[in-house]
Amino acid sequence: MKVLVLGAGQLARMMSLAGAPLNIEVFAYDVGTGNVVHPLTQQVMLKGLNTAITYSDVITAEFEHIPHEVLDICEQSGKFLPTTDAIKAGGDRRLEKALLDSAGVANATYQLINSREDLDTAMDTVGLPMVLKSALGGYDGKGQWRLKHREDADKIWPEMAECMAQTDNQAIVAEEFVPFDREVSLVGARGKSGEISVYPLAENTHTDGVLSLSVSMTGNEALQSQAETMFRSLAESMDYVGVLAIEFFDVGGKLLVNEIAPRVHNSGHWTQQGAETCQFENHLRAVTGLPLGSTALLRPTAMINILGENRLPSALLSHPQCHIHWYGKEKRPGRKMGHINVCADTQEKLTASLTTIAAHLDPVAFPALTH
Ligand code: ATP
Ligand code: MG
Ligand code: MG
Repeated sequence: MKVLVLGAGQLARMMSLAGAPLNIEVFAYDVGTGNVVHPLTQQVMLKGLNTAITYSDVITAEFEHIPHEVLDICEQSGKFLPTTDAIKAGGDRRLEKALLDSAGVANATYQLINSREDLDTAMDTVGLPMVLKSALGGYDGKGQWRLKHREDADKIWPEMAECMAQTDNQAIVAEEFVPFDREVSLVGARGKSGEISVYPLAENTHTDGVLSLSVSMTGNEALQSQAETMFRSLAESMDYVGVLAIEFFDVGGKLLVNEIAPRVHNSGHWTQQGAETCQFENHLRAVTGLPLGSTALLRPTAMINILGENRLPSALLSHPQCHIHWYGKEKRPGRKMGHINVCADTQEKLTASLTTIAAHLDPVAFPALTH
């Protein structure tokens, strides 16, 4: 089987690695250059989207910020999964909020903002403090503003207005600030015949809006089943096929959806060492029509993102339960360069390992463990 992935970053790369043992060939469409490249070497394999579509059996995506023209061409081929509407919703917070509401899953109170007057109204309807998020193009906490006091609205408005002017039909979503206890996410897969299998929840730590640490969770049946119910509602309402990730706020044991990612997700990288079948293999299994692999936990696992660094201390390289995954990217400050999966026999031992490992890490590249 030949799978074309829209996007040529680390997620396509890890899908390619997971697909090889199953004889699934993954190639990647670089949306920026228009070239079809090998996901590991970045070497150009084919020129042009149409050639790639003809050559492929299935088309999928590794990110949601894809021009709609590209998605529409893929849709016409009849080969695209999970669904182009799911990708569009993942890339536009207006569509995403409408989707959450129509699937009946709890999410933060919000209002759409198109003008300065709307911002005033939102301060009453949504309340303060609030988080303002650009409807289009946001990731890693970019394109967001926080508003605590009414009198600060005029200060942030020019920047918001500039952001709205950048793209046609751009809006801002004003959201209540959720006083969450922690952030968790659920990654799961839905197959072509409608079967669903989800991984254990992961607890996530963000630093300056960027995911820095994800730890698999055990022994949270109530939270797990709440998340799974919402996953089912969302996946079924979209007739979704593939891996889907849902980010939640945990507020006193009640989950609110923050956002969805219609693809394999950074908070699911721990499944490479911690689950029977990793998320990348399960996405490929789903979209190629194979039965889903088991999502059972093998052992507690934590994923540490490597930010803006391309070297690791030897203590880490020689650690028996550290698994290194580099993305082959050029070093840039703050850039996701790779990740480390740390495994342990028990949750307690995993916590102890993370403390030991933290002593060897640079605080800039590994903020979650060293601050
Ligand atoms: P990602 O890289 O996960 O796609 P993003 O840019 O789409 O990120 P969000 O996930 O919406 O952004 O927000 C980034 C982080 O900001 C969240 O993980 C959370 O820590 C915080 N945050 C977002 N919305 C809210 C909210 N309504 N209340 C409190 N904190 C929030
Ligand atoms: Mg997002
Ligand atoms: Mg997020």
